[in-house]
Amino acid sequence: MAKIFTVDGGGDKFAYASVENRKVIPLRTFSSPTSMDGLKDQILKVNHGGIKRYDGIGFATAGEVQNHTTIVQSPNLHWLDTINLKEWAQSTFGIKCWVSNDIEAAGIGELREGELKGVRCGIIDTISTGLGGCTVIRIPRAKELVIPGEPGHMVNFGLQGPLCGCGKFGCNEARYSGGAVRKRVKQLFGDQIPSDIDPCRFLDQEADNGRPWALQLYKEVGEGIGLGWVNTLNRNGWIERIVYMGKFGVYGMKHMRSHIEEVIQIGAMFSHHKNIPIVQSRVWPNGAHIGVAAIFEEYEV
Ligand SMILES: [Zn+2]
Repeated sequence: MAKIFTVDGGGDKFAYASVENRKVIPLRTFSSPTSMDGLKDQILKVNHGGIKRYDGIGFATAGEVQNHTTIVQSPNLHWLDTINLKEWAQSTFGIKCWVSNDIEAAGIGELREGELKGVRCGIIDTISTGLGGCTVIRIPRAKELVIPGEPGHMVNFGLQGPLCGCGKFGCNEARYSGGAVRKRVKQLFGDQIPSDIDPCRFLDQEADNGRPWALQLYKEVGEGIGLGWVNTLNRNGWIERIVYMGKFGVYGMKHMRSHIEEVIQIGAMFSHHKNIPIVQSRVWPNGAHIGVAAIFEEYEV
């Protein structure tokens, strides 16, 4: 078994870990670097100057990845655009490196060690600043498939909705993501929210205290997320399970679950989808580390 240094690089932070035999040991987390030199500095800092005790680096990040080596385009980390990280790691550290899209990595983590172990087909959604997701399929005696999706950019309420970061109007992400809700709560309460509290946590506190505005907002968001899921279910009768992760989803699910389930009850066309299990990822936030280490091992071990 290889010992792999893994990086889960997001728009806000980069999490570094060590993975051996599918066990993740989180090492450090930093604010996202802003250049390749910044990335190199963070890797050296985590490893106290040396990285050679690892068999290689597994790198997961948002965006389009080619051949598990090159980042074609990363929406929030443009300094990674067109970089061949495999070559970079070889020339910078003299070490092997394989790269994966973060949702693909999370999907593989979920298949191998999480809530989709033994499941034929499931969907995984990250309910966070954005809304990401994938579909995973496992066919006996064949390679598992992780099919990338862009559930945040499904348009569920016409083209008159708010402007999305992708440039379109009416995307789910522009209304039902943690980022969209954060913006709305800020608009509603502005300076009344203590500066050290994330507006989404303020919403949680208010909902926990039974405040009608907060419960109503969670109802609206829950129905929106439920609508996205039920449309997906109606396109794919194989889906057996919905797995969610991401801070906004994990914290808010207790207030959204009944609304999500109601929408699915009403809208699902396959009878086995009416009460489909909606479960929190067991490996979050480490799924991407497990997945990218698995991809590394597929190539190198
Ligand atoms: Zn969009």
